[in-house]
This record gives sequence, structure tokens and C-alpha cells, in this order.
Amino acid sequence: MSAPQPADAVVIGGGVIGAAIAYHLGLSGLGRVVLCDQGRTAAQGATSRSGGLLRLHHTASPDIALTARSLPVFENWAEVIGGDCGYRRTGFVMLVGEQHTDALRENCERVGAFAGHRRSEVIGTDDVRTLYPGLSVEGVGAAAYEPEGGYADPAATAGALFTAARRLGVSPSEGVRAERVVERSGAVTGVQTSIGLIESPLVILASGAWGSAPAAHLGIQIPVIARRIGLAQASLPGAGRRGSPVSVPTCVDDTTGGYFRPEGLDRFYFGVPSNPDVRLDHDVAPLTPQEVDAAVAAISRRVPAAAKAPLVGTRSGLDGYTPDRRPVVGAAGPEGLYLALGFSGGGFKLAPAVAELAVREITEGGAVIGKAAQELLEPYRPQRFLGGRPIVPEAPYDHM
Ligand SMILES: Cc1cc2nc3c(=O)[nH]c(=O)nc-3n(C[C@H](O)[C@H](O)[C@H](O)COP(=O)(O)OP(=O)(O)OC[C@H]3O[C@@H](n4cnc5c(N)ncnc54)[C@H](O)[C@@H]3O)c2cc1C
Repeated sequence: MSAPQPADAVVIGGGVIGAAIAYHLGLSGLGRVVLCDQGRTAAQGATSRSGGLLRLHHTASPDIALTARSLPVFENWAEVIGGDCGYRRTGFVMLVGEQHTDALRENCERVGAFAGHRRSEVIGTDDVRTLYPGLSVEGVGAAAYEPEGGYADPAATAGALFTAARRLGVSPSEGVRAERVVERSGAVTGVQTSIGLIESPLVILASGAWGSAPAAHLGIQIPVIARRIGLAQASLPGAGRRGSPVSVPTCVDDTTGGYFRPEGLDRFYFGVPSNPDVRLDHDVAPLTPQEVDAAVAAISRRVPAAAKAPLVGTRSGLDGYTPDRRPVVGAAGPEGLYLALGFSGGGFKLAPAVAELAVREITEGGAVIGKAAQELLEPYRPQRFLGGRPIVPEAPYDHM
């Protein structure tokens, strides 16, 4: 074991959340920031397997507020962060059953309230067909449309964040597992890792599905369950080409619980409901032919051309799910420990806002960042589960 390394902050976890936090810590001028990942950065967990769908439409106000702060960063990536996150504006469509028409309208109004000029508007099913001829609207009661919705490339996004963070002096350490957060007299003093001690007064756990394990001995037990989720990719020439007879949007379909998006002009990604069980000490099993076949059958009802589209690949990854399926963001336990984990299958689109707000809170303190900004994180605090304050959607659907 080497001699203890000194640092001003340690970020545990090199997914998109850890990368974005490390970048903002670098920007803040805090000093020496170390980011460690047990595997390769942006490769081990959910981030590199993610679908990268970007939308404002959610069923709970706190999520809308964070995505409204994040989307402009994806849209203006080169100017704000530098490099390329692969953002592509395809338009986003939310489909719901008849029984959720009122809820859809309410959620669109909330998007308007949080996102200003950005629209999420209720449109007729005929309009959906006109905009995206590749969609069948059978069984759809109502639809909402967001022109700015789309997707970004999660691996490219994390890569660009790492490049920007490195420029600011952040040093990523790969193949370094954080074993336990070290504390003395109620304050964090560092992290014991698989290659030795890193001394630091600030430790941020951005450990995704692996949850709060390195802080468990300090009484930090956040209810995060690791779940396996998957996507398949098919060849569908024209899927991403406006005006093509098979053109599709980035879409969440609450009538089936499915989601999908075009990839470039000629490919198509769709969610694959899969056996959610995982063992954290094993690599995630690839999707099985049975899982993919069932998903193709289901998605073909909404995108008929998918039935005959040749499959070209699959992705499976694991993410950490909390009881209310929202992340945990905030201080917990000894002074200097901060959590940003359990992003429950939806963390990619939140990363820019969560990281910016979390780092401002950590480095400037609540009083300085202002009540309005801090209130955006307030619903996500780790203590909400103990206090019986889960996030409850104001206008839920069947699957959201
Ligand atoms: C198939 C799939 C599709 C998805 N689609 C979307 C989507 O369309 N839109 C969206 O917004 N979100 C989507 N998500 C969810 C999103 O990708 C995740 O919520 C997000 O990537 C989580 O990022 P993270 O940094 O918290 O976690 P991760 O990317 O999992 O990173 C956590 C990292 O922490 C490391 N780590 C953990 N414990 C330790 C330790 N003790 N020591 C060192 N390192 C440690 C891990 O190795 C890992 O690299 C999807 C996820 C999957 C799997």
C-alpha cells in the first residue's frame, strides 16, 4: 500500500453523475479533486448503457424543474462544457391512455411553468401521425409534444465531462474501489480504497446502483436496490429522418410502458423489459433472446416497422432504484459526506442540473446559493425515506 494521498475532495463513482460533479468541483477551484472508480470510468455502471433520452415531461414537479435546468446544457454543450455530447433534437412525444388526458394536460402546464418558453403541448393523435408517420396511435388517448426533446450520447457526454474536468485539474483514478469512508469526531477525513488511503475532508458518493455501501459502517443506509435494465437497437432506415414514412420521435409510451428513440437517421433504440435481478459483484448479463423477442412484439404495436427491422445490438446495465424511484442528493452523516446516487433509471437527463446545484451547495453553502436554487434539491434529500416524505407525482400515469 502506498502512503496516504492528500485531496480536497474525493468523488466515488465515475458515471455521468460523478463526472459532472467532478467537473463542477474543478470549476469551483476547490483544489485537488480525485475521482475514483472501481472499474473504467463511464463504463462500469448505467451511464455507458443508457438510452440517453432527454425530455422535460415528468409527473412530479421537482423532476420537471431539474430537467428544465439540464436540457439547455445539452443543447448548448460545446459552449457550456466543451466537446460534443451527441445531442440530437428529434422532438419528444409522451403517449397516454384516455384516462390520463387530464393528468397529461396538467403535466404540460407544469412544464410551461418551469421551463418558460420551452413547450410541452397537448396535441391530437392525428397530429402525432403527421409529425411521425412511423407511429401507430392505436389505443392512445392523448399525446404531448416537446419540440426540443431528443437524446444525447451518454458515453460521449461522460467523456466530454471528463475531458473538461481534466483540463481543470481533476485526476481520475480507475480500478480503485472505495472500501470505506473514514471519519473522526463527526467529520470525514478520507476514504480507504483498494490501493490505500486518500485523505480528504470532503467525500461525494456518486456510486449509482452500488449505493451507500462505503458509508454503511457510519450508519448511512440508503434504500437503493440495483436493477438490470436493457435496450435493443434495430436497423430502421429513415427512423430519424423527418418526412420518412417510418420516422419516429423520442417517445415514452405509457399505454405499454415502453420507450424508444431513433439513433441517427437509420437506427432505432427501444427499451427491453428484462429480469431486473443482479449481483453487484458480477458483470451484467446480456439481454436474452426471449427478453428481446417479447420487447419486439410489444414495440411493434406502436412502431409497426419494428416487427421486421433487423436487430443490430443490445445493451444491458444496472441502475440503483430508491423506493420512490427518484435519486438521493444531499449531505448525510458526518460533516463532509455528500450523496448523489440511486438515479432510478432516469439520471442521465438530470446530471447537469444535479451536479451544478450539488457542488454550489457543497462549496458555497445554502445561504449563498439562494433559497430558490436549494429548493430544487430539497425534495431529493436522503432523510426523506426515514421521515416518510417520498416524492409523490402530482399527476401520475400508469407507469410514471
Ligand atoms: C439500459 C438503460 C437505459 C437508460 N435510459 C435512460 C434514459 O433514456 N434517460 C435517462 O435520463 N436515464 C436513463 N438511464 C439511467 C441513467 O443512465 C442512470 O440513471 C445514470 O447513468 C446514473 O449515473 P450514475 O453516475 O449515478 O451511475 P453509474 O453510471 O452507474 O456510475 C456509478 C459508478 O460508480 C462506481 N462505483 C460504485 N461503487 C464504487 C466504489 N465503492 N468504489 C469505486 N467506484 C464505485 C461504479 O463502478 C460506476 O462506474 C438508463 C439506464 C440504463 C441502464
